[in-house]
Amino acid sequence: MHELSLLTSVIETAVSNAHGREITAIGLTIGARSGVIVEAVQAAWPIAQASFPQCMHAELVITFLPATVYCPQCATCHEIDEFFALVCPVCATPTADLRSGTEFRLEWVDVHADSDCSDSKAPDH
Ligand SMILES: [Zn+2]
Repeated sequence: MHELSLLTSVIETAVSNAHGREITAIGLTIGARSGVIVEAVQAAWPIAQASFPQCMHAELVITFLPATVYCPQCATCHEIDEFFALVCPVCATPTADLRSGTEFRLEWVDVHADSDCSDSKAPDH
């Protein structure tokens, strides 16, 4: 499953940035034309996170980005459906100028606040 391996590498990145703390939530941005299916990502999430003790209770927060193209005829960006060809939905001018929608990225990682009180160091925020 494509989405499972994507999530596994996302979690690996998150874990390496969490410095041993428990991860509480992960924010992902998925574009409409990224080739990644949001429903498949959601379905694969429990399987992916189960392999990482640090991530076992983390919530997955997905931000879906629609695809937009820049139309030189209209001189503006228009949102296109993920199944639309690369044409302007308003004036039908062909445009390959995709401005958003191919994203698949890890946006942010929330980690559990240090509950380990073994030292008296104040949190730095
Ligand atoms: Zn147009």
